[in-house]
Amino acid sequence: MINILKKLLDFIYENKCYFCSSSKENSIFCSKCYNSVKFFDTNPVKKIDNINVYAVTFYKDVTQKLIRAVKYHNKKNLAFYQAKLMYEYWKTLDISTENFLVIPVPMFFSKARKRKYNHMDLVCEEFCKLSGYECDLKSLIRNRETAPQYKLSGKEREKNLKDAFSLTKNELKQPILLMDDISTTGTTIKEILKIFKENNINNITVLVTAIPETPSNYIY
Ligand SMILES: [Zn+2]
Repeated sequence: MINILKKLLDFIYENKCYFCSSSKENSIFCSKCYNSVKFFDTNPVKKIDNINVYAVTFYKDVTQKLIRAVKYHNKKNLAFYQAKLMYEYWKTLDISTENFLVIPVPMFFSKARKRKYNHMDLVCEEFCKLSGYECDLKSLIRNRETAPQYKLSGKEREKNLKDAFSLTKNELKQPILLMDDISTTGTTIKEILKIFKENNINNITVLVTAIPETPSNYIY
């Protein structure tokens, strides 16, 4: 009986839009909420060491809720929609016709960490199903636990991430598409680009889901 009730509740709640709860579309991300995300134009939002960084939109409203759901609230089924938004934006860029190797910004898995999956692995896998690109979840690794970047000042951020990443092999197929959910100051990306460049890997493009709205928070 409890099982039947649980299934019924799952049915009722899982089929509601996670964002507005009011759509009758029987989808966790209704078209009205999905279409409320306004894409940026085709210019990179910034350059880090001469590498173009593209973002889909600002970190607010539906996009903010989506990123937080996939990252913190175990809403793995929303990873597809995060990937879809990224892919639909990505397709507007001329370079999207090239055949990229997609690599997510990695996480460190400690025993203490509650979340046992890297949300960006899920997003990248879904992105590759949509784009037909190859997905590489193993070559770039995070060597140690690092403090959350948002709690630190500029200099502290650099120190926090110094030598935090490495490559498990020194040759990779190029061009590479490095993907993350949010880029604020760009310190994480800068540190990863350094590792790539040390291995003579230079053909890289970066795509993130969102950037904060206040420019001083994201211009590196
Ligand atoms: Zn909705």
